[in-house]
Amino acid sequence: MALRFYNTLTQQVEPFAPLSGNVVRMYTCGPTVYNYVHIGNLRTFTFQDILRRWLQARGYQLDHVMNITDIEDKIIRHAAAAHQTIYEYTAKYAEAFLEDTDKLRLQRPEHLVKATDHVNEMVEAIQKLEQRGFTYLSDGSVYYRISKFPEYGKLSHNDFSGIRAGARVDVDEYDKADARDFVLWKAKKDDEPSWQTPIGDGRPGWHIECSVMAMKYLGETLDIHTGGVDLTFPHHENEIAQSEAITGKPFARFWLHAEHLSIEAQKMSKSLGNFYTLRDLIGMGYPPEVVRYLLESVPYRKKLNFTMDGLKAAATSIERLRNYKLRLETDKFPAGTNDNLIERTQKATQAFDEALDDDLNTAEALAAVFEYTRDTNTAMDAGEFLTGNAISALEFLQHFDSIFDVLKPTAQTGGVNDEEVEAEIAKRDAAKKSRDFKMADQIRAQLAEKGVIIEDTKQGVRWKRQ
Ligand code: AMP
Ligand code: ZN
Repeated sequence: MALRFYNTLTQQVEPFAPLSGNVVRMYTCGPTVYNYVHIGNLRTFTFQDILRRWLQARGYQLDHVMNITDIEDKIIRHAAAAHQTIYEYTAKYAEAFLEDTDKLRLQRPEHLVKATDHVNEMVEAIQKLEQRGFTYLSDGSVYYRISKFPEYGKLSHNDFSGIRAGARVDVDEYDKADARDFVLWKAKKDDEPSWQTPIGDGRPGWHIECSVMAMKYLGETLDIHTGGVDLTFPHHENEIAQSEAITGKPFARFWLHAEHLSIEAQKMSKSLGNFYTLRDLIGMGYPPEVVRYLLESVPYRKKLNFTMDGLKAAATSIERLRNYKLRLETDKFPAGTNDNLIERTQKATQAFDEALDDDLNTAEALAAVFEYTRDTNTAMDAGEFLTGNAISALEFLQHFDSIFDVLKPTAQTGGVNDEEVEAEIAKRDAAKKSRDFKMADQIRAQLAEKGVIIEDTKQGVRWKRQ
């Protein structure tokens, strides 16, 4: 079956293909950079990475935009408390965000764009809405009149027929099912950063930012818009209302939303204070790829309940896969190819691909990999697994890792890289040959201190990281 995704807009799983040609035009709501992101945020960004990689595996090219929200109420408050400009304050966290996503091996979008670099375009968009009668002014702020947009509610599937015309909010987030006119442009307040513009002195609201940056780089109708499930309403509903009021065209064809990561049955969030950052977990000794594995192991539309046991289980799973790979690379298998096992590899590859085609079912995809490793390990023990099978098994593992990307260990600071390990092993071999066993043992112990374990096997020296 073809590639398909659950679309929040239609509430159905639908076959996916881009609107034109081979390029998928995709927009992702990025972080609000007033603090380090937590692993709940990173779950959503990791889902987007899997989505990118699988679209590429299916032959598509990405044209992907992510915004960085660098002007917003909390940012203004925090920057003022730190006696910094919003630019100084947000630069640090925008940088930290990229460091974290790099560590998690998330591909960078083709365009990473900042809200403060697009204020002129936001003003122009608000003027267009004004000309079309979608706005009104109150105390110097400009509001979007949602009663003018009859389709309001179509994404979140809320019935807003009884909306209170004229009720409005200044804040960017408000209660579910309570539809109110939202702010497009906030009038200048004392001490707050502001821009002098034809629509008055002030600053943009959060929602207009995404409509403007999405359409500037990707055109009027996007193929895919993504975000965490909490953004469906009001943020994405408001993006649709703004964009479609300007263009008269559908804003995004597919809306994909990642479910929350929770901890002790609560949504992990900065405001509740119940969060871990990636930095916290690395500090506790978990390499980034273990966190990545945990985040990708639960399909994105299911809640992910974060526990330390889950993290340990992720580390064990990676270890099993690395050991399996090591066995494929270092065991001496009998010559030839066992055709039944080639068929087994094809079956596993098919199951893996089918799982990801099915709305990115990562749990099923992993199950296909682990069943395969179990079966082939048994075949190896029985002497039925031949050199030709090792080649196809390694290809399958590589296919798996082109999406999950967990097999290569992250080089630890103060540790050793692969080349250095190989060089130390060569030195140890030389020491053993000249019967300098003390030196050989010393090299083994030094490597062990750096987390590298050496094993002498019949087939020669093997090594792995702890
Ligand atoms: P923010 O920086 O708060 O705008 O959030 C950045 C992204 O993380 C958005 O797509 C949110 O929907 C998402 N997000 C926030 N909290 C969680 C959570 N606990 N689990 C998964 N995604 C989340
Ligand atoms: Zn957004």
